[in-house]
Amino acid sequence: MTESTDSAHRTPVVTRTAEELRALRPKLGRLALVPTMGALHAGHRSLIAAAREHADSVAVSIFVNPLQFGPNEDYDRYPRTFDADLLACSEEGVDVVFAPPVEVMYPDVDRSREDLGQIVTVDPGPMGRVLEGEFRPGFFRGVLTVVNKLFNLVRPDVAVFGQKDAQQLAVVRRMVRDLCLPVTVLAGPTVRDPDGLATSSRNVYLSDQERASALALSRALFAGADAAASGPAGVLAAARAVLGEAVHVTPPVSVDYLALVDPATFVEVDGDYRGEAVLAVAAWVGETRLIDNVPLTL
Ligand code: AMP
Repeated sequence: MTESTDSAHRTPVVTRTAEELRALRPKLGRLALVPTMGALHAGHRSLIAAAREHADSVAVSIFVNPLQFGPNEDYDRYPRTFDADLLACSEEGVDVVFAPPVEVMYPDVDRSREDLGQIVTVDPGPMGRVLEGEFRPGFFRGVLTVVNKLFNLVRPDVAVFGQKDAQQLAVVRRMVRDLCLPVTVLAGPTVRDPDGLATSSRNVYLSDQERASALALSRALFAGADAAASGPAGVLAAARAVLGEAVHVTPPVSVDYLALVDPATFVEVDGDYRGEAVLAVAAWVGETRLIDNVPLTL
């Protein structure tokens, strides 16, 4: 926005409705959106910094999307830290925060219904049924539906997503392509704590001991990446060796999946594959489910 001068410490305009956004949009020029569920950390901040490089104004949406949570997942206990998030957005020079109430995103919200009253949704297709989609049925339908709504409400030219959620990034890119959405999708690399753990809003759930166990995920991925020259079987074997040991630590790491996939389709690569790939893992440590991945070249 042109009227702002001190970009480091201005307070973003907080919007909660479609009408407020519509009134603001003409003043924002080329606009980049960083969609988030709040509880902002260094990973979100890096996406905001990347967004600023590509637009005149940056919008951050903060919305814990009920449609992407399964009935037994952590929707209710998901961390909600709006005041700290607003401060982080101020520090990062964000122009607009869009923090809608559930009723703005889901006007017919009905919590007694599995579909929450959202009748028309975006079908992610086969990419939405593998890996994360297999373990979290309905997750990518919920993600694509809310991302589509956010694009329509905020009308960004650019949207920035994290490599941390590599399958989400791939599915969103596919939606933009298949539905001809007028948005350029950019990706930011995964931000990690110094010990290797990918920063995540869910890391606050981890006790010190659980956090120590959780380091097996990134260690396994790095071991896999180090073995890239030995081909797909070598990558998977190196990562599996680390995860195999992590089953015996306290508390143990319980793996949902480890897979080496094509980054665009999320189809598992075969034994003689060469080219870009993503090594992805999901695992439980105690009551917390973590995901992580590394891009690599075979
Ligand atoms: P979330 O708030 O978890 O829905 O994430 C919002 C956006 O931040 C998504 O595009 C994520 O992929 C991205 N993100 C989350 N964690 C990280 C991280 N450690 N590094 C980079 N991007 C991240």
